[in-house]
Amino acid sequence: MTQSPEPQIHGGDAAVTDPIGHLLWLLEELGGDRYGGEEVTQLAHALQCATFAQREGASDSLVAAALLHDIGHLVNPKDEDATLRGIDAAHEKVGANYLARWFGPAVTAPVAQHVAAKRYLCQAEDGYFDRLSEESVRSLAVQGGPFDAAQAADFLARPYAQDAVALRRWDELAKDPEMATPTLEAFRPVLERAERREA
Ligand code: FE
Repeated sequence: MTQSPEPQIHGGDAAVTDPIGHLLWLLEELGGDRYGGEEVTQLAHALQCATFAQREGASDSLVAAALLHDIGHLVNPKDEDATLRGIDAAHEKVGANYLARWFGPAVTAPVAQHVAAKRYLCQAEDGYFDRLSEESVRSLAVQGGPFDAAQAADFLARPYAQDAVALRRWDELAKDPEMATPTLEAFRPVLERAERREA
């Protein structure tokens, strides 16, 4: 697996005075026309993922994680089409590190672990791999492939592993070109509560 060096980050300086507004801007402006190999834009994907989390009664922190889980794709200029070039740009770690300046582990850990959760589910659940999208299969290969039994057990022992699994299931569903969701702005209060909780 090829690891890219520490990426340059869009908007990564400490000058961000309105973090929530900044994150919504990233999703809207950078995510509104990025597809990342899937059927829906990054913005639609984020909204759908957060909508599933909300429908299942997830905490504000986990809904925030669902909305922001792929932000690592948007803030890293080296991420675009990385998978197609056979590179793992580690978007889950880039994203979690990026978010850690404003949120605590209830948000950042599920983000950081959502790729591991995919690798876990491929090992633990019959038929899971077969349901993955083409892009998810492609990225799985550069992300290290399915866990073995020992790696799966290690994963389950990590904090927030179950939240990461829940997030990963919504992630997989959130690729529907027809799905209606609330607006991005409707999630601002959720992000504000999640940020306050973690402060
Ligand atoms: Fe995703």
